[in-house]
Amino acid sequence: MLVFRQLFDPQSSTYTYLLGDRASGAAVLIDPVFEQVRRDSALLGELGLTLVATLETHVHADHVTGAWLLKRATGSRIMLSAASEAAGADRCLGQDDVVQFGGRRLLVRATPGHTSGCLTYVLDDRSMAFTGDCLLIRGSGRTDFQQGDAAAMYRSIHEQIFTLPDDCLLYPAHDYRGLTATSVAEERRYNPRIGGEIGIGDFTGYMKNLRLAHPKLLDVAVPANLRCGRPEGGDGDADPLREPGWAPLHYSFAGVWEIDPHALEEHAAAVQILDVREPDEFSGPLGHIHGAVLIPLGELAERAGELDRDRPVVAVCRAGGRSAQATVLLQQAGFKNIANLTGGMLRWRAEGHPVEGGSG
Ligand code: FE
Repeated sequence: MLVFRQLFDPQSSTYTYLLGDRASGAAVLIDPVFEQVRRDSALLGELGLTLVATLETHVHADHVTGAWLLKRATGSRIMLSAASEAAGADRCLGQDDVVQFGGRRLLVRATPGHTSGCLTYVLDDRSMAFTGDCLLIRGSGRTDFQQGDAAAMYRSIHEQIFTLPDDCLLYPAHDYRGLTATSVAEERRYNPRIGGEIGIGDFTGYMKNLRLAHPKLLDVAVPANLRCGRPEGGDGDADPLREPGWAPLHYSFAGVWEIDPHALEEHAAAVQILDVREPDEFSGPLGHIHGAVLIPLGELAERAGELDRDRPVVAVCRAGGRSAQATVLLQQAGFKNIANLTGGMLRWRAEGHPVEGGSG
């Protein structure tokens, strides 16, 4: 079975694609974004997948790739086009190369035009293809910088993408209107730049007259991506995978730092335990953790000042849902070191940690 997720970076409107082979647990990410590496690693962990490779569709001008950071965190191999001339790749790809992940494969098609190193990745059963910034949904990538070539793009789309099966789903690197996928048949018919009877001269004329603004991040993103996302001057501080040091925590795909009951018991003396349940629950049958401060979730926004900003806060509730919300509120209130007790009082009790009050 194929595991498939389409992930979005709101800053650059970039889509990152996760493809995994359920049987072996091997996965690849297409076009990961530097700032989203923590999210992507958490998702891989929660889905029980091991990242074997990151694949770039091209050297991006609008975001920095997460390839280098993911390699450092997971040991994944960095793959991108040989024509991109980037430094730091573990494998350089070209036409008809095959990228294996467990029992599944992606086939490489060279689709230059937006850049000279653009690649389209086609899934083994030709049910999906990842077109990068070559073919977009009812559009195409720009061809006015980075070795852009409108005539090459026309040929790439007609010869390498429109020749895929009609119902092959196409997933672009971006969409600025929130559209998520398209198909070969609909783009061949309805793409206003290159569909229907539009010829190569019509297309190149259209592309010459787009007059788009210079991309904001071009001067930062392209040099960084030519190093596969490695920060300049080495490892640097910009590491979104670095854990806060005050206790063993893990980061969830929902975006919350979590602490396990045993870790909280070990570190209880150094943290403030914030119970966000209602007073009758606090004194009810589940009891509460020794030393916990009670501030019900509904009052937390006004009463956050009662907590010490200089000490880490662990939020607790019955099952871990309300307390996750509490960590978000505290973060907005400027607290730095916050975690959620995973599973709440239910798991705390189930794992046999000490309780004050309560029954049984
Ligand atoms: Fe691009």
